[in-house]
Amino acid sequence: MIAKRCTHCNVPLLSLLWLWFQCWHPLLQNRRAHLLPFYAKALIADCKTQEKDPTFWNTWAQKTLKNALTLQTLNTNKAKNVILFLGDGMGVPTVTATRILKGQLSGHYGEETQLEMDKFPFVSLAKTYNTDAQVPDSAGTATAYLCGVKANEGTLGVSAAAVRSQCNTTKGNEVTSILKWAKDAGKSVGIVTTTRVNHATPSAAYAHCVDRDWYSDNEMPAEALMHGCKDIARQLFENIPNIDVIMGGGRKFMYPQNTSDVEYPTQPKMSGTRKDGRNLVQEWIDKMKDKKGNYVWNKQQLLSLNPNNVDYLLGLFEPSELAYELERNNDSDPSLTEMVDVAIKVLKKNQNGFYLLVEGGRIDHGHHEGKAKLALYDAVEMDRAIGRADLLTSIHETLTVVTADHSHVFTFGGYTLRGNSIFGLAPKVSDADQKPFTAISYGNGPGYKIVNGGRENISTVNYESSHYQAQAAVPLLSETHGGDDVAVFAKGPMAHLLHGIHEQNYIPHVMAYAACIGQNQNHCMSSESALLSQSRCRQE
Ligand SMILES: [Zn+2]
Repeated sequence: MIAKRCTHCNVPLLSLLWLWFQCWHPLLQNRRAHLLPFYAKALIADCKTQEKDPTFWNTWAQKTLKNALTLQTLNTNKAKNVILFLGDGMGVPTVTATRILKGQLSGHYGEETQLEMDKFPFVSLAKTYNTDAQVPDSAGTATAYLCGVKANEGTLGVSAAAVRSQCNTTKGNEVTSILKWAKDAGKSVGIVTTTRVNHATPSAAYAHCVDRDWYSDNEMPAEALMHGCKDIARQLFENIPNIDVIMGGGRKFMYPQNTSDVEYPTQPKMSGTRKDGRNLVQEWIDKMKDKKGNYVWNKQQLLSLNPNNVDYLLGLFEPSELAYELERNNDSDPSLTEMVDVAIKVLKKNQNGFYLLVEGGRIDHGHHEGKAKLALYDAVEMDRAIGRADLLTSIHETLTVVTADHSHVFTFGGYTLRGNSIFGLAPKVSDADQKPFTAISYGNGPGYKIVNGGRENISTVNYESSHYQAQAAVPLLSETHGGDDVAVFAKGPMAHLLHGIHEQNYIPHVMAYAACIGQNQNHCMSSESALLSQSRCRQE
């Protein structure tokens, strides 16, 4: 026990046990607040000593090598279940910064920490451009990684032949998603997001819409409505019958105009938006009357459900987007992890398996605001949800993929020292303007600021606060997406097919192939008939 070390941080297990007792044991509840930094420092000092010994690095590398060698036996099982975790805007620099933050939140340096996604054995890169844009948006990319076809910026579930905002280019150009392929194959399907459920990412799973902003008929031009185009909220309930689990925000787009919101009855901005007078939530409840369907709108209702008694679940927890994880009301709003937990428990009851799309959707929003802290805490939360999904599934029958739709112009650098707070300063002032600077900065965005003719001196600014906007090179009201490739992490059946650098629309093709759904199923027939004849031989 004494000699054993944590595989995660290489600290002796006994030290960890001691740390747990000192910091978290209820007996010492009142003392832990001031003790925690002390023990965290002790832990870090221990790690530092370890790293000076070449044995530490050699042992670590040899163990990693041993694990890598086991990957030579490929997992070619049929994937019963398929899960896609999509970190909106979670480019590679965001993944690295998230890793450091997650480690620092548990008292480590951070750099050496392993995210849940870091543990996936296969990683590749995806090229994210849209058919008409070098730097993409979330709608065109969602069409790629959900429908398997690259598309134009701003369009959902339609091919590149459709033109953004032109209703009459929709018909005939629809492309279907892996969520539909899974449903058609008898699997249960689910969508869980921290944005509105009719936002770009989830929408491409069920809608065919030439404009990502047509959330309800209120946001649509009269001409589009006249030509028969449908708003996205309506398509959520009408296109694919009975999506088994739908969770996220976006309540207001489901209710008739001026219907006050259940959670914010005095705030007109939160009221229903629909001009057609339909109450899509009530329609859903009525449709599910004889099925085991539950509508919930707060955390308490969600967590009081017994997933064994729920076949269909609609959870709409905010009128629009859910709160950032850092600002979430833990009493009334579920975390992404809590939503994923319930979703998988409901979906996995289906003997045929399930397809689940999970979006950490507000990583993107934090970056657009230039507020890295909001973005990174949301990314940490998505990583936690990935860990929860791991506990509820098995790599023998579940293919899990983690990726992003696109990157951001977010970066961190400045020769910061090991263990430097990810939101902290570079060790030296700029040799050009003699002012301090944070490791994190943006290529563009709202953090651009000139004070007295020069770059703002941030020594008196609280750059570790949640709403601090990191400095940007170019002033923009909203920071932009980046055009760099994004990582694709994969584990489970056929995960090895996600290798190298590929177009983003390759992802659902692999996922469908692994699950024997969609357009490429010949290998399933042959392996299934081989299995069948094998079992017949055995019987004979
Ligand atoms: Zn964005």
